[in-house]
Amino acid sequence: MSDISLSSLVPAYIQAFEPYTPSRPDHELMRRFGVDHLHRLNNNENALGPPPNARRFIEQFNPDLAPVYPSGDCFDLRQTLAAKFGKSENQFLVGNGSCEVIASVVKAFCQRGDNIVTADKTFAVYEWIAEFSGFEARLIPLREHGFDPQAMLDAIDGQTKIIFVCNPNNPTGTYWDLDTLRSFLNSVDNRCIVVIDEAYFEYVQEPGFPDGMNIMEEYPNVVVFRTFSKMYALAALRIGYLCARSDVVDIIRRTHVVYSVNSLGQKAAAASLKDDADFIDDTRTMVADGKKLLKEEFSKLGLNYLCGQGNFMMVKVPMSDTLIYRKLAHKGILVRTMTGFRFPDWIRVSLVQLPVMEEFCNALTEVLRK
Ligand SMILES: *Cc1c(COP(=O)(O)O)cnc(C)c1O
Repeated sequence: MSDISLSSLVPAYIQAFEPYTPSRPDHELMRRFGVDHLHRLNNNENALGPPPNARRFIEQFNPDLAPVYPSGDCFDLRQTLAAKFGKSENQFLVGNGSCEVIASVVKAFCQRGDNIVTADKTFAVYEWIAEFSGFEARLIPLREHGFDPQAMLDAIDGQTKIIFVCNPNNPTGTYWDLDTLRSFLNSVDNRCIVVIDEAYFEYVQEPGFPDGMNIMEEYPNVVVFRTFSKMYALAALRIGYLCARSDVVDIIRRTHVVYSVNSLGQKAAAASLKDDADFIDDTRTMVADGKKLLKEEFSKLGLNYLCGQGNFMMVKVPMSDTLIYRKLAHKGILVRTMTGFRFPDWIRVSLVQLPVMEEFCNALTEVLRK
């Protein structure tokens, strides 16, 4: 029998695609780096853990529900979201993390020869999904670390189907204010879908920051992404969603896998939205305290840093980012290397409780002193 011929079976764009290597599990990293604890500052998780209502729900989850398929279209959760945002439940589509929702949008709008437009230094999943699906990702360089509206407009052509705007941007923390966003959307003039990824929305307190949930009422081509992975600390349960006009959602739903969102996640997400105000306040305070401390420490160390919105900061280090990653991991601290985000020798650090931030600062100071 002859062998399988992968080169003829596999599309060229898949052969050319370089797969992402996920981080090893914590127990494996602890063994490798010889430490008995690990502070995870690498994934922008909320270190406070989920809000009280979600926590209670997870603790009490009934195992008899494990054999029962979840609601295939997140019926109850969409009702809860609709009530919270004053919209129709038909305007929401929930996915297995917003990563799944990104894939559904790309599948719904792009066909052979089409392209998407986004920035070169942003959340990489937009680019990856486009490329492994065979579509061109036009990556527009950041300008002063932020998305460049004019250059993005210039990149649009008749085959551009989706523009991804990460607001605020992961990893730089920059954002478009309401005027910038509005003028961009006016210029796009409904020629393509504009995704506004608001994964860090709940962290932002700037007065001029636009709320995609309002903006989408004015612009039928706007699709807003939100997630329960960041503020609501439910990353393990994988729930994200999009909100758009219901006729747009009807189209995207056709490409979306039903039953992809598990029951525990659906229920915990709905629970997390109830009485979330104090929890959000506490998280914002933790992040603000962490930001203040890191700014002071980075300045003392003479390091160049970026500090914007979101629960993370970036800092440039005087060695390779992979080397400092290993040195910090040996001290029980995980950071995110930024070469993959096209920021060589920068690291990104999530902002968590002060004692951990202090431990990070001490570890960083030691590593740099040697
Ligand atoms: C973390 C993050 C997401 C969330 O992804 P999930 O799949 O919902 O966990 C989406 N967009 C950006 C920019 C993020 O940083």
